[in-house]
Amino acid sequence: MKPEIRHHLTDALLMAYATGALPEAFNLAVAAHISMCDECRAQLGAFDAIGGALIEDGQAAAMPDNSFAACLARAKATPPAAAPPRTNGVLPAPVRAYVGGDLDVVRWRPVGMGVRQAILPTDRRATARLIRIPAGVAVPDHGHRGTELTLVLQGAFLDATDRFGLGDIEVANEDLQHTPIADVGVDCICLTATDAPLRFSKLGHRIAQRFLRI
Ligand code: ZN
Ligand code: ZN
Repeated sequence: MKPEIRHHLTDALLMAYATGALPEAFNLAVAAHISMCDECRAQLGAFDAIGGALIEDGQAAAMPDNSFAACLARAKATPPAAAPPRTNGVLPAPVRAYVGGDLDVVRWRPVGMGVRQAILPTDRRATARLIRIPAGVAVPDHGHRGTELTLVLQGAFLDATDRFGLGDIEVANEDLQHTPIADVGVDCICLTATDAPLRFSKLGHRIAQRFLRI
């Protein structure tokens, strides 16, 4: 069954992904969302088509005013490539490639309050991690110095902005201070990508974060 996805990538992130401008950890989060989301995959196809058309036309050729919109409309009319087959596992294919399998081979490390994490091997420009939050448990209140992408792979979480379910991705930045809480039912498993340390409001969490690379 396809998840009903309500929270998507921004056009800026999709375009940066299409041009290969993102750090590896963000690439992974974007690729994982796209593997679950027809809408963002179609949008990415549109950006790829525009990029291809620009190269074909030659960089020096002037574009007519409406060509971007026309190009986008044409590209959108093309059906997106079929989603890669979903196996019965929890992790989407791009994440499985980093883990070397599905959830059963993830090496979780406790980070307190029953929350566990596993940092994935990406380049150091940004950090990708799997986070497992027990149902009903809150992640400590924090703000963000850079960008934080959070993709839900199992269960759901809520914060002041909304509820995020399977396949939803939250794009958080300096403006957002939040306390994500795992919804009741099953443990919430997320893939997160961050390019700067989080800003925790409590001193104890600030000391702990030095050891946890959060
Ligand atoms: Zn999407
Ligand atoms: Zn956050």
